Amino acid sequence: MNKKILAIMISALIMTSCGNPAVTGEAKTAAPQVMGQENSPKENDPKENIDLDLKPNEAGKIMVLMYHNIGKEEKEWVRTPANFLKDLTVLYEKGYRPISLQDYVTGRITTEQGFTPVVITFDDGNLNNFEYLENGFISKECAVGLLLDFHEKHQDFPLEATFFITGGQPFKQRGLESKKLSFIIDNGMDIGNHTSNHPSFKNAAEDKIQEEIGAQAQLLQGIINRDDYEINTLALPFGERPGDKTLTNYLAFGSYQGLPYKNIAVLNVGWNPGYSPYDSRFDYLNIPRIRASEMKVDNVGLYDYLAYFDKHPEERFISDGVEGIITIPENKLELLGTFREKEIYTYDTK
Ligand SMILES: [Zn+2]
Repeated sequence: MNKKILAIMISALIMTSCGNPAVTGEAKTAAPQVMGQENSPKENDPKENIDLDLKPNEAGKIMVLMYHNIGKEEKEWVRTPANFLKDLTVLYEKGYRPISLQDYVTGRITTEQGFTPVVITFDDGNLNNFEYLENGFISKECAVGLLLDFHEKHQDFPLEATFFITGGQPFKQRGLESKKLSFIIDNGMDIGNHTSNHPSFKNAAEDKIQEEIGAQAQLLQGIINRDDYEINTLALPFGERPGDKTLTNYLAFGSYQGLPYKNIAVLNVGWNPGYSPYDSRFDYLNIPRIRASEMKVDNVGLYDYLAYFDKHPEERFISDGVEGIITIPENKLELLGTFREKEIYTYDTK
């Protein structure tokens, strides 16, 4: 490979097209890391650790997977424990590694170099997502139990998943709501907002949208009851967005009963991989998800995209392993847009 290398320091904002406010906030932590080491590039330049033979491409696409239920019988919205385990195994073997939704949208990607980040999400917060047995142990057949078990056996497959909760009783086991949410957060996973009553927002008025999001955020925040964790991601019920586009901003910002809410990620239901957070087309208010199922997925399910990326590896996000640097093949430079004071590091693939 011709390693003609072109390193460009980006010190000013380039564009702000889809501007993710969360992303610009993150930038400040990344920049000094790189800039402070200009004096002895040979020894300290983090670029020295980036292996270009792994073809890092941080302008590539990232899949956000959508699950609903784990159950004994495979159905349109139900994955059996064995099939969920198969999904995790296939992802693992094909070089995908989970990251949190927050890290995806804020561009805080520390995935081991050469590997591809993937985001795992579960909607609705049903019992089969997280169940305690009578003996006090976590069921090995629920989503949390399966994820824990897989992570234990594959320590390099981070324990990252977001559970989007609708209604007042997360995971439907009376009295265990707080214990479960704490467990998820303490173990590095996340809780997201899926509204109070799971309505379609298609024809909803601004008051209704704010009530559904704000009340649920307050309720979950109350159950979690700690200052160091914020409910700030939203999965849209049925993936339905407000028909009146002027109301879209209420998905991100609003208030209910005088208390404000804020979402740094708003997730749809379908149908394709998400853009890199560094891609100018990335929109944190409009993040597509892929159905992690093999039933009625209309050729746009998880296995369809796994096959697609096997065939088109150049479209896949491949991490450089360094948070403060965005490494991309030179011919992808034009894709980058929204920034963040990270260093851009390009290489010629010819
Ligand atoms: Zn739902």
